[in-house]
Amino acid sequence: MDETKSVQGVVDYFACNVFNDDIMRDRLPKYVYKALKNAQNFGMKLDKEAAEVIANAMKDWAVEKGATHYTHWFHPMTGITAEKHDSFITPTPNGKVIMEFSGKELIKGEPDASSFPSGGLRATFEARGYTAWDPTSNAFVRDDTLYIPTAFCSYSGEILDKKTPLLRSMEICNEQALRILRLFGNTTATSVTTTVGAEQEYFLVDKETYEKREDLIFAGRTLFGAPPPKGQEMDDHYFGSIKRRVADYMKDLDEELWKLGIYAKTKHNEAAPAQHELAPIFTTSNVAADQNQITMDVMKKVALRHGLVCLLHEKPFDGVNGSGKHNNWAMSTDDGQNLFEPGSTPGKNFQFLTFLCAIIKGVDEYADLLRLSVASAGNDHRLGGNEAPPAIISIFLGDELQKIVEALESGKLIRANKKKQFVIGVEALPNFPKDTTDRNRTSPFAFTGNKFEFRSLGSGDSISCTNIILNTIIANELCEFADRLEKAKDFTSELNALLAETIKNHKKVIFNGNNYSDEWVKEAEKRGLPNYISTVDVLPHYLDKKNVDMFEKFKVYSKAEVESRYEILIENYSKLLHIEAVTMIDMAKKQILYAGIEFTKELCETITFKKSAGITGGAEEALAKRITKLTSEVSEKTAELEKLDKKAKAIENLLKRAQCYRNEVIPAMESLRESADEMETIVPKKIWPYPTYSDLLFNV
Ligand code: ADP
Ligand code: MG
Repeated sequence: MDETKSVQGVVDYFACNVFNDDIMRDRLPKYVYKALKNAQNFGMKLDKEAAEVIANAMKDWAVEKGATHYTHWFHPMTGITAEKHDSFITPTPNGKVIMEFSGKELIKGEPDASSFPSGGLRATFEARGYTAWDPTSNAFVRDDTLYIPTAFCSYSGEILDKKTPLLRSMEICNEQALRILRLFGNTTATSVTTTVGAEQEYFLVDKETYEKREDLIFAGRTLFGAPPPKGQEMDDHYFGSIKRRVADYMKDLDEELWKLGIYAKTKHNEAAPAQHELAPIFTTSNVAADQNQITMDVMKKVALRHGLVCLLHEKPFDGVNGSGKHNNWAMSTDDGQNLFEPGSTPGKNFQFLTFLCAIIKGVDEYADLLRLSVASAGNDHRLGGNEAPPAIISIFLGDELQKIVEALESGKLIRANKKKQFVIGVEALPNFPKDTTDRNRTSPFAFTGNKFEFRSLGSGDSISCTNIILNTIIANELCEFADRLEKAKDFTSELNALLAETIKNHKKVIFNGNNYSDEWVKEAEKRGLPNYISTVDVLPHYLDKKNVDMFEKFKVYSKAEVESRYEILIENYSKLLHIEAVTMIDMAKKQILYAGIEFTKELCETITFKKSAGITGGAEEALAKRITKLTSEVSEKTAELEKLDKKAKAIENLLKRAQCYRNEVIPAMESLRESADEMETIVPKKIWPYPTYSDLLFNV
């Protein structure tokens, strides 16, 4: 009985805090609703009058939900979201207030945005950028505030955020994919949209324990910490039964997300102790990007209510798996086709193979961009660490598709009659089992039945950059294909030649084996695939001519905008490492050294006491010597790290600065950690200044 009640509950309250289609249809006059739909679906401009009506309806609805404020919510280049709250109050002549919200305020906002990173795009004298309402992502109420998803630009038109280029990349995918669909005789589809489901991994630690660690507070990850007696070697956490406290958290989280219209679908324990995952049902790229940001924020806030802290760092703990985010990606039409669905009718299969070849070619040609879309100091700890895909970008197709692709290359697959109907070499095309059991979990870019799963993202990353790049790459290839096919005298033979040629030239990016193996690293090198181990190696490729040319061709970014993005990323790399280095120095000086000295003192007092009592032998002297040695090491290495951090920080050139952090500061950090972690294993628990890995990973 109760069960039914609670199930009914979800249906009732799902999206109750979202100004969604139902509400709009309900509350807006017909002509305004229609104008809004045109804006959402076809990018048509809303007139002032309609905006006024929508703003008012939105405000009334939000106020009924308890909202007192509104905010233009945007995605600056920091990777997180930004919001400034304004109240609805407007004074009345009698000294009271009314709640007001105008069309102008809905459509355009002017945050004082001078402090957001712009990578040199926006001179400080014209610091004010503006935010513009994105009607394709629904407004929602959270914490008594109406959130309006917006794009963020400078007055001279430069893109200062992650939403604008994402929307642009979706638009060009739509244009180019439609050209291909028309060639295959599809006259019914009027739009193609890219879809994304972002699986999100995270760690939960106890809040009180967390607060005792400066590194977790400042860096989001542990910078020190000896391995616990037990890690993930027993594989007993993955899909394991969920503990009460975690289950309560997950239930609360689901409810919060559902109220915000987010289709939280799957939850389970992950491979590492204290690690979990949440997967939503997919939606359009733009909405998925917004929802993933909301999800990360809600995850953190709900955790606090449960006395927990949610860690979204890519690698919070050494020696156990870090957290990633799987970006499941596909394209679908408004007439109901998933363009990566192999299907069973031959005509559609050829359309599918065309899209497949386009993505194979794109991933091969722009592997550097995909790699850099997930590049950060934190993610460098994961990629290639035998827990996440390597830094080498390749595609997994699986056995069935592999056979087809081989047949394509040999030109054996296509037989067509005059009506552009395709007949397939039957034995070459088996049925595609929906749930392929041989899923390759080591591949960075895996075909998983009817979508591609890009697995290299770090858990804290915004998914925008990856999807901007994926969409631009596929649009670029589809455009090239369409240019050629539209001109063809004989469509079938041209298609045949095009697909065969594409496979021949780009099959080197296909790899169905174990991506974690050393053999693959060697094999990939032989194939000439790039292997950018670190962020510092890959980021400069943002500026490669072929990449800038592509972004400019499709007006996703101008050259200046690519440069600004590069600058922000490379500068962030150094900033992050600086914070980590300084945090380590602080912990070493104020906590670790002191613990070493305390323990030495205790040991020496015991030694003196024993001597005076005439007692000989015992463990104290050896232990005192060892701890003295380690304490000196920590002291010296801290001084060395301090010196190198100062040196790196003073370097003007952004790339050289980042290289110095990578080549000199990181090794110094690792070396300091080694001595400190060894100390941790011998200093008594009552003296050791911060919680250990065992305390963090096993006490929730
Ligand atoms: P797993 O990869 O863990 O086996 P699934 O394959 O069931 O799990 O789905 C993972 C994610 O892929 C989910 O978020 C799901 O919504 C998403 N997904 C499924 N189909 C598509 C699609 N056509 N486009 C984008 N994402 C999709
Ligand atoms: Mg997955």
